[in-house]
Parts: sequence; C-alpha cells; structure tokens
Amino acid sequence: MKKMLLTSALVASLGLGSLSAQVAAGSHELNLYSYRQPFLIQPLMDKFKDESGTQVNVVYAKKGMLERIKAEGPNSPADLVLTVDIGRLNDMAEADVLAETSSEVLEETIPTHLRDPQGRWYGLTQRSRVIYVSKDRIPADETFTYESLADPKYKGRICSRSGKHVYNVSLIASLIAHHGEARTREWLEGVRANLARKPQGNDRAQAKAIFVGACDIAIGNSYYYGKMSTNEEKPEEKQWAEAIRVVFPNQEDRGAHMNISGAGVLKSAEDKEAALGLIEFLASPAAQEIYAQQNFEYPVIEGVSADSVTAKLGTFKPDTVGLAEVAKYRAAASKLVDEVGFDKGPSS
Ligand code: FE
Repeated sequence: MKKMLLTSALVASLGLGSLSAQVAAGSHELNLYSYRQPFLIQPLMDKFKDESGTQVNVVYAKKGMLERIKAEGPNSPADLVLTVDIGRLNDMAEADVLAETSSEVLEETIPTHLRDPQGRWYGLTQRSRVIYVSKDRIPADETFTYESLADPKYKGRICSRSGKHVYNVSLIASLIAHHGEARTREWLEGVRANLARKPQGNDRAQAKAIFVGACDIAIGNSYYYGKMSTNEEKPEEKQWAEAIRVVFPNQEDRGAHMNISGAGVLKSAEDKEAALGLIEFLASPAAQEIYAQQNFEYPVIEGVSADSVTAKLGTFKPDTVGLAEVAKYRAAASKLVDEVGFDKGPSS
C-alpha cells in the first residue's frame, strides 16, 4: 500500500492543481508529480497501465513542485517527478530529493550526455534551442552559430525572451561550458547590444515578433515550430511559423544546444524499482513514439523518428556536451545575465 493516497482533498491542500486520475484500489500504484501537461502525459500513463497493470496517479503542477516535495519530506506521497529542462532536474538533484538509481536498460538506451551519472535523472525527450530567422529578411543560405549572434552586423535585429528564463540560462551555461565565463560574458554583452527590444514574451512571441517585423532573428525551442504550425485553435500562430526559418546553429563545429525533459525517482518513493520501471517504460520505443508525435520533440533513443512536421526541419548535428556538466554553470549563467543587464534591453 502507498503511504498515502492522493485524494482530491489532499491535492487541493497541496495547491498543485487537480488530480487527473481517479485513485484505484490495490497496491499497484505510483504517484507522479508532473510539470508536463495532461495531453502529453495521460496517453502514456494509460498505455503503461495497459501493459503493467500499474495505475499512475498524476498531479499536474505549474509551479512550486520542488518546494512542495521538500516540505513533504520523507512523507511525500510522490514516487517520481517529470519535468522539463536540465535546470529543473538539476535543482531537484541539488535539493537532494532524488534517489540514485541504476538501470541496465536506461544506461544502454539513453546516451550518457542525456542522463545523470548518478542515475538521479534521465532525459526522456530532447529539444534543440534553435535560431528562428525571418524567411523574408535573412538569406536562405545564411548559417548561424550562437557566437554569431554577437556580431555587430545583427545590431537591432535580435529578439529574445528573458535571459533569466530556464531555457536561456541553460543555453548560456552551455556557452560557459564550451568557452569559459569571460568569453561568454563578452558574447552576452554583444547579443544584448544587438537586441531590437527589451527581452519579453515566450518563445512563440519571438516568432510572432519576426512575423510582425519587430526583429529578424530570435532564439527559441525547436518544438514550437511544430506546435505553431499545427495550431488549429490559434491559426494566427501558423502565420508566425510560416514567417520563420528554423536554423540549427553551430553545424560546422559542436552542434546545436540540446535540452531535455526528463524524470527522476524521489527519495520518498516507497518502491523505487517500480518507479524506475515507469521511467524505463517512458524510454521504450512505444512511449518514445507517443512523445515525439504529441509534442514535436526528439526521441532520446535510437530507432524512433521525429514526427512528420518536425522531420521537415531536417537532420542536424546536436551538441553532445553532458547536460550534467552544463548544469554546473547554470548559477554562473544566471549571474551573467544580471551583470550584463541583458533583460534591460538594447545597450547603446
Ligand atoms: Fe516550452
């Protein structure tokens, strides 16, 4: 039996949003705290139940997950977490709430650079932090590196979301991993000098900014191309996607920066093997296929291809620097963003 069942009342008291799955009787249950959304996760949990008989109760959260897990301590009902970005996974590892695990199948199928050497987290999907450029105003054959974004020829032409957003902090941390802090500071000052406006909005808003002509170049995650270009509820986003060309930078050297969504077993898990079993399922070909189809992300295992919209972006060389290594520089990256005043907008 679980220590504690996740009831609606409990979920309400956790302030974590609504409980998607009804709690089933019996001992075959896992409790999952997820920052990933129901449309993506529920089909996977349904399939897991069909295959294993294990019911997964999912608490979908938008924020405050780590604080809650820390507050609950060893009595947390949660067995595992699912989240996006190496930053959030690393925060959980550093807060010492994740258990060290080892799994032959995960070690065999997930490349080393996409998982924690101590088995505290495993990458389950990949996304690239790409460059969106205007189809109209940037020549079709123009190539980019992250470094080139600091080139004065792009002055007044670059849009960005906040430099402090977890996606950008990880990208900047990867620059530190490759070039060191001093060069990365110079680079970030150069990018700031090239900004067209004060950093604002999310990744999709950068594509929109290109569409409306506010700038010609922006940074965003690869899967938003697929999400925007197939958005039937907000068809205006199709135009934003249509206005941009997705460029994978650094193809002549280290490759495009990659980030992950991933999962980890919590120290509070009563049956850590069972929790790890769910992660193994999520890394299996059948689950990887669902992930790729639902959210336009890249699989972490070989032999599963991207969905057809994402496939149109073409094949590319990914940066295979270890994400555990990149994570070490996140604090320094975040500090640099403040120190160069990136979020204040274009410097004169
Ligand atoms: Fe995102």
